[in-house]
Amino acid sequence: MPCPEKKGRCGIYDKMQTEYVVMTEDSIDKDAILRAGRILKEGGLVAFPTETVYGLGGDALNPSSSEKIYAAKGRPSDNPLIVHVCDADAIPPIIGGELSGCAGEWRKLADAFWPGPLTMIFPKSTKVPYATTGGLDTVAIRFPSNKIAAALIGAAGGYVAAPSANRSGRPSPTSAKYCREDLDGRVDMIIDGGPVGIGLESTIIDLTGDEPIILRPGYVTRDMLREVLGRVEVDRAIISDDSSVKPKAPGMKYRHYAPKGDLTVVNWRGPLTVQYIRKKLEEAALSGRRTGVICTDETAGEYRADLVRSAGARGDYEENARRLFDILRSFDDEGIEVIWSESFSEEGLGEALMNRLKKAAGQKVVEPTL
Ligand code: AMP
Ligand code: MG
Repeated sequence: MPCPEKKGRCGIYDKMQTEYVVMTEDSIDKDAILRAGRILKEGGLVAFPTETVYGLGGDALNPSSSEKIYAAKGRPSDNPLIVHVCDADAIPPIIGGELSGCAGEWRKLADAFWPGPLTMIFPKSTKVPYATTGGLDTVAIRFPSNKIAAALIGAAGGYVAAPSANRSGRPSPTSAKYCREDLDGRVDMIIDGGPVGIGLESTIIDLTGDEPIILRPGYVTRDMLREVLGRVEVDRAIISDDSSVKPKAPGMKYRHYAPKGDLTVVNWRGPLTVQYIRKKLEEAALSGRRTGVICTDETAGEYRADLVRSAGARGDYEENARRLFDILRSFDDEGIEVIWSESFSEEGLGEALMNRLKKAAGQKVVEPTL
């Protein structure tokens, strides 16, 4: 479908027809996958489900495909793309030279976490164009576990560059309807494979130095990586409050996931946090602003706001993570102007959840006071 409802929004993409296909992992539409693979081989773009979030795929070894991905997303071209493979043996041809330092340990990580939500960074070989790596000499690689994704990557020749299938700055899409919202008329095909299972993007680990470093927290936690490698560091920019520390993953420096309304995270201190948010809601309502809250099942009944969204039970990180991006998008649909979110513990998967939530809030985190 083109994007007739908002003429001009798509610019050069006004004439592109987006084809929609629906399938499940248990019943893959092989003809549609072959068609999608052909589109990618010919330099086109296909959005598809993975277990983390939906990806916007192009041929990773074709520089003009990568350029199209950046244009369709409106993504800054210094923000490199992750190359998706469907077989760990596809790695050696696209990584460069002698593997030094911790890169030699990649097979241990592949055995433990692939296929799955872990992205590894290596020195790149000349097969991978700079257009895909944002000008870097390194390449990020992941083998997703979603069977539709794996079938598509195979049909496309084995190497698919795929950032999250959202317009740059918006929350990553956790279902095909959000791909449609952001990319209709900008891509050749959108494969609807239902809602994703994880809901947060992959963990990124840099293997190009002496020590493995987590550049983006995700479903595979620090403890899980430490168990396999015996050691792991975390990029200082992720854990430091000092905004002058530059992140090693170029994309982590950009504002991300932000709803249009003004979002503030309030540290969770039990009833004190609830009282604080209630007071803020009353003040905002008096000034006529539309209000929203992100909370948990335990506290959802405590708030009066234009939109109250629970991320699930407190402590159920998997459910909280699965719901987060959908919740962030829902405030825009309701025209919410000011939003407060309870914070979550940063243990385990909570580290990735809070990383995304704080980014969405532009790092605005406050202590509740009365
Ligand atoms: P997305 O594709 O939207 O999930 O974002 C991919 C993330 O991976 C961005 O934060 C990129 O900056 C990061 N990334 C991709 N390739 C590299 C690389 N070679 N070195 C460091 N970070 C990378
Ligand atoms: Mg993204």
